[in-house]
Amino acid sequence: MNDPKPIVPCPTCRKPTEWTQENKFRPFCSERCKLIDLGAWANEDYAIESEADDIYREE
Ligand SMILES: [Zn+2]
Repeated sequence: MNDPKPIVPCPTCRKPTEWTQENKFRPFCSERCKLIDLGAWANEDYAIESEADDIYREE
C-alpha cells in the first residue's frame, strides 16, 4: 500500500492540503478555513466597508 495522496491548495489560505478521507474538511486545510469560505459571501460587504473606513481615517 503506497498510494500517493493528492495535494490540493486550501481555497482559503493556499496551504497544501492532503485530499484524504481522514480530512473531512477537504479541500480546506481545517474547519476554520472551511467556515471562512462559507461565510465569505456574507461578510464581503462588511469587509469592504471596514477597509474603506480605514483608508479614509489614514488620510
Ligand atoms: Zn486553509
